[in-house]
Amino acid sequence: MIPPIASNFVAGKTPATALDHAAQTNRDGVAVILNLLGEHYHDREDADADADAYVDLASDLAASDVDGCISVKPSQIGLGVSDAAFEENLARIVDEATDRGIFVWIDMEDHETTDVTLDAFERHARETDGNVGVCIQANLKRTRDDLERLAALPGKVRLVKGAYDEPKELAYADKARVDEAYRDLLAYAFEHFDDGVAVGSHDPAMIEYAKELHDEHGTPYEVQMLMGVREDAQRDLAADGVDVYQYVPYGGKWLQYFYRRIRERKENVLFAARAVLT
Ligand code: FAD
Repeated sequence: MIPPIASNFVAGKTPATALDHAAQTNRDGVAVILNLLGEHYHDREDADADADAYVDLASDLAASDVDGCISVKPSQIGLGVSDAAFEENLARIVDEATDRGIFVWIDMEDHETTDVTLDAFERHARETDGNVGVCIQANLKRTRDDLERLAALPGKVRLVKGAYDEPKELAYADKARVDEAYRDLLAYAFEHFDDGVAVGSHDPAMIEYAKELHDEHGTPYEVQMLMGVREDAQRDLAADGVDVYQYVPYGGKWLQYFYRRIRERKENVLFAARAVLT
């Protein structure tokens, strides 16, 4: 069992517990993005096993009443083994999900994976006519160029600030500079993306700016936040008519993910502790 202090951020160990959490979240008008925890595999068997789990998840999700989609990490489904392993497993997941009407997000990892991830996204975006999305990171200096490439493709893009420590010649390290880049990229995306923009941020200033850009350009958008983070804001935005998705991690590898959330923001410890104590 996952200890209560971590269960604010992780929806149990199994697809069934994740789907239960998803159904509850849907009741607040918030859709879900299901993510099986796991990354940096170097054995093909591990990568294949998680890809199998995603194939099953897509079919379980389609058979349920849950409003949601899935999100996969390249290094979880084979990128640490070979590009070919990643591409084969991603194709299996995307084919199954697309057949069943389930949208697939591809998370973005460190800068060494950006090219292969975007290439895979492009191929599947064209083949499925937009049933996939990809995450891009505002801290990377290359992202403005990547956005121009992505604007010409079907599918969706999730803009985040970036979670990986990157070399300073490739990425902005200063938080204010990352925020400035995020705003610029958001403005570009709202001007050029017909299929809409996904705002992957808890930052009230960025969410407010996205609303202004939507009002100005009419571009559809959605806000994506993590399970356990600003859930009151998730519900309030949904009640105001914004499309809101909660990213819902689950699975046996919850410990590392939980520590990352805690390291990111000490308030999370207090929040989690309060939830246990009250
Ligand atoms: P920050 O810059 O961390 O914070 C800005 C403001 O937001 C804070 O001042 C505060 O007002 C508010 N806020 C932030 N956190 C909290 C909190 N815990 N409680 C209360 N208020 C808070 N990164 C990747 O590199 N690749 C990915 O594929 C990826 N996918 C993601 C998917 C989703 C749905 C989300 C939400 C994030 C994802 N990230 C990913 C992580 C992202 O890059 C950032 O590291 C992370 O979201 C923190 O940045 P932020 O924009 O949320 O806000």
